Amino acid sequence: MLVLVINCGSSSVKYNLIESSEERDVCKGMIERIGAVTSIVKHEPVGKKHTKDARAISNHTEALQEILDYLLSPENKIINSPSDIKAVGHRVVHGGEMFKDSVLIDEDVENAIEQAFDLAPLHNPPNLRGIKAAQKNLPDVPHVAVFDTAFHHSLPAEAYLYGIPNRFYRRYKIRKYGFHGTSHYYVSRQYYKQIDKPVEDTKVITCHLGNGASLSAVDGGKSIDTSMGFTPLSGLVMGTRSGDIDPSILFYLVEKEELPLQNLHALLNRHSGLLGLSGYAGDMRDLIEEANNGDRRCQQAIDVFCYKIKQYVGSYIASMNGCDAIVFTAGIGENSSLIRKQSLQNMEYMGIEVDEEKNNNIERGKVQKISADSSKTDVYVIPTNEELVIAIDTAKIALAADQSPWV
Ligand code: AMP
Repeated sequence: MLVLVINCGSSSVKYNLIESSEERDVCKGMIERIGAVTSIVKHEPVGKKHTKDARAISNHTEALQEILDYLLSPENKIINSPSDIKAVGHRVVHGGEMFKDSVLIDEDVENAIEQAFDLAPLHNPPNLRGIKAAQKNLPDVPHVAVFDTAFHHSLPAEAYLYGIPNRFYRRYKIRKYGFHGTSHYYVSRQYYKQIDKPVEDTKVITCHLGNGASLSAVDGGKSIDTSMGFTPLSGLVMGTRSGDIDPSILFYLVEKEELPLQNLHALLNRHSGLLGLSGYAGDMRDLIEEANNGDRRCQQAIDVFCYKIKQYVGSYIASMNGCDAIVFTAGIGENSSLIRKQSLQNMEYMGIEVDEEKNNNIERGKVQKISADSSKTDVYVIPTNEELVIAIDTAKIALAADQSPWV
């Protein structure tokens, strides 16, 4: 089934056209700077010429129209008619407490996504805008919402409750939700394919290390804890996000720097993390390069990043009373042997040993084991594919709903 996967940000739309039954990418692309004087439009059909150009795209509906026009154009011949697309899958960041699985979008679902605007003010509004724009352009096919939070629905109360008065949970649903769920789900499932053991008996720690970064403890196939929390700000140090800090620092800063409250949001989300620590960059490649040139602060930023991962790995081994495997994924996890090695250094006591040679000789895009033969815990690099999870879920739900016009 041909599924269009859409991921809408406030000024961008990313898309992937996927043949879900064959798990095959057909075309992907991105429109950035929507609403600016010139937007950037990229299309990357598999096995065909990629294009990138600049032109004005004023809103998400126009962006979706541009994507369809491109896919339909006789020159590109990617699809012959809009009806070739049988379903649309939407990445929705926050499903609140309501959604533990992907769902067919109807008015109630749209209202629930809107109700979660408060919980994810940067993500859910553009996600819903994308849903409405795609419905306008493809009105006759099922639209499905796949939530970043859904996989973490299995967290027990002791992992999701914060140590604040319980009425705030009851009143405002302040609790840990966790994010990157589709990625943690996907790589844990790819890991199960490598082993000959019932899923119920496995304990895995999945490390999604990209610009945003989180870890998840997956016990018996279910997420039982994760490092992001009420929002994607907590947990590990990230590109520009602080990760965990002592909340009192905020009161202190408000007083010392006379910072207005609204500036704290930008401080912690956009000016902290690797960027804030190094004063140079939030991008790991740039940091590694500068650290190699002798920059002390860039080296420190890398050290803090890795130390935090190590701490979470240790705590999740304690939470699960063991660990069969640690899985690295996403931009940094898949590509940086240095970060993988440093994050798991000196953990032999816990049975973790990375094999230097295997770690340094990774073939891109493949599932690979990088632990030493003597390591009690396996260590893997597994490329993530969130879009594929969205496409497969979407196809499943579209078929079940029996709404697809070709069924
Ligand atoms: P993502 O958000 O998954 O696209 O990951 C982006 C992050 O991956 C950025 O910090 C990149 O610098 C980092 N990254 C990509 N390739 C490498 C590499 N070869 N070595 C270190 N970091 C990398």
